Amino acid sequence: MPYTIHADICEGIADCIPVCPVECIEFVDSEKNTKGTAFAYIKWDICIDCGACLAACPIEGAILDEQVEGIQKIPA
Ligand code: SF4
Repeated sequence: MPYTIHADICEGIADCIPVCPVECIEFVDSEKNTKGTAFAYIKWDICIDCGACLAACPIEGAILDEQVEGIQKIPA
């Protein structure tokens, strides 16, 4: 099951991006979350469920080890 980034908890630090082995995390700086920061999202169709992003993330609750609908923000 792919991982999920909670867009409104993420602070756009992006430590997850270089550690993802399949480059499926997209950084979003074209819009802000409710904290007023950039954020990222995970492409569920590519994620291989390795957990590297969660291990690298310093923000508790920003990355979840399951697929959760409705909390990622994916720009149109
Ligand atoms: Fe990338 Fe692994 Fe995180 Fe999936 S679980 S987004 S493959 S680092």
